[in-house]
Amino acid sequence: MTKAGATPTGGRVVVLGGGIAGLASAIALAGHGRTVTLIERDPPPPGGGQDPFLAWKRRGVPQFRLPHGFSARARSLLAAHAPDVLERLRADGIEEINVFKQLISPELWQPADDEFTVVWARRSAFELALRRSAEAQPGIRFLCPAVASGLNFAPAGDGPPRVTGVRLADGRELAADLVLDCGGRRSPVPRWLAAEKAYVHTDLQDCQTVYFSRYYRFTPRCELPKTSVAVLRGDLESMMYIGFPGDHDTFAICMEVRPDDRDMRLLRHTWAFEAVARSIPDVASWVDPANATPLADVQLMGGHHNVRRRYVADGRPVVLGLLAAGDALCTTNPAYGWGASMALTYAFAAARAAVEHASDPVAMALAYDAATAAEADAVYRESAAMDRARIYRDTGQEVPEHDRAEMERQRVIAEGLAAGVFFDLELGRAFCRRVNLAGPADEVLDNPDFVAGARKARERLTTAPRPAPGPTRRELNAILHAARPRSTA
Ligand SMILES: Cc1cc2nc3c(=O)[nH]c(=O)nc-3n(C[C@H](O)[C@H](O)[C@H](O)COP(=O)(O)OP(=O)(O)OC[C@H]3O[C@@H](n4cnc5c(N)ncnc54)[C@H](O)[C@@H]3O)c2cc1C
Repeated sequence: MTKAGATPTGGRVVVLGGGIAGLASAIALAGHGRTVTLIERDPPPPGGGQDPFLAWKRRGVPQFRLPHGFSARARSLLAAHAPDVLERLRADGIEEINVFKQLISPELWQPADDEFTVVWARRSAFELALRRSAEAQPGIRFLCPAVASGLNFAPAGDGPPRVTGVRLADGRELAADLVLDCGGRRSPVPRWLAAEKAYVHTDLQDCQTVYFSRYYRFTPRCELPKTSVAVLRGDLESMMYIGFPGDHDTFAICMEVRPDDRDMRLLRHTWAFEAVARSIPDVASWVDPANATPLADVQLMGGHHNVRRRYVADGRPVVLGLLAAGDALCTTNPAYGWGASMALTYAFAAARAAVEHASDPVAMALAYDAATAAEADAVYRESAAMDRARIYRDTGQEVPEHDRAEMERQRVIAEGLAAGVFFDLELGRAFCRRVNLAGPADEVLDNPDFVAGARKARERLTTAPRPAPGPTRRELNAILHAARPRSTA
């Protein structure tokens, strides 16, 4: 152990970032009697019963108003580690739904099927419940709004640098025995560490996707089967659409296109988004003004990457007195809906390592890595592989030799497992386990029984005719052209 490693840790904890990982780790640490200072650059949530979706200024979280679906793991983790957050969600009228159980008859239910229960909430409602729970903890002090601008380190010794505090943009300095980096996918911490010659190895793969989405609220006279929005999903020639259920009678329609598709970038305009939504038979009735009223303009976001950062190299921590959780540790393509659940996974694991190894920063870093590395590797690998499968398909690229086995493996989920859901209960369960992260992300595709079943399902499906779910690419261009207001033509 290094000299720096012998310094006691764990008394003063600073959490950098008050998003999902930051709030959850602060709640868990305070629950173990720790005093935590949480630094967040954005202002606190609005009071007075205002809808946080519209009124909470969250520039630090650009995806705040984009659709979020929370996989069942998020709910299970809250039930185990922060049950009061779940209580707050319930008190706020947020529904817990198990679509799998709804789709099959009750005599087929198994106890483990409860693992697939999810909360249907917008990101704003989910985060607000976490935030209010954190605010209710006497051990958490909020510095908000406040911007962290750097880290302080102990004088260099033989081993890895040891973080001793956080500097704020307003000139203040906070001493810390432990800093949790919960600064999200754009966390500045790796850059600050690199300036200290502590290099965080980073794997990165572009998701090559842009999101366009819009939230709506059902009208009182809407007679659509509202829960079906959760299974609304389809692939057009150059676009994918997905429905997201929300809280308080809200839902979102999301369209994903390639970033180099200039024509489809018109979807950022309300007129284009609505025209395309109306042209897709599955989607049209959901955006019909008789059934739904938009809550805000179209929201768009690009620049998505799968990112895996490693804070332990060759069995040694890269830095001491600092753990990274949430997107700062690993970011996956938002389309798979794993980010929030994994942020909670890392946050609770970080809190545990901090409590169990409070006086030994080396043991703390290694225990945290041991608890999270395999799962983080798995979500990164699976997310990146699913993205490559889509990219090869959409760009017409031939799959390179080195990626063929993995692409065949992914085809099982894309074509076999998803299809098998409709006629094989066990494949349905496997599919739900994967999307809900009921186990590690690679568990299902590494199970030969499921793979064999999914392959059979795929063979069965190839003979069945597949109706086109919407306009061709050429038709979409014509729809966009016809919808364009004259002043912008
Ligand atoms: C378009 C989109 C859609 C998504 N959809 C889903 C979904 O459907 N399901 C799902 O599970 N996940 C989804 N995600 C992923 C999910 O949003 C993230 O995984 C999750 O927010 C990660 O939580 P976090 O706490 O690590 O980071 P964040 O929630 O991003 O929080 C980081 C916080 O750190 C603060 N911060 C950063 N730097 C500083 C600083 N220097 N000083 C002070 N504060 C700072 C920021 O203001 C922010 O509050 C989506 C992501 C995107 C981009």
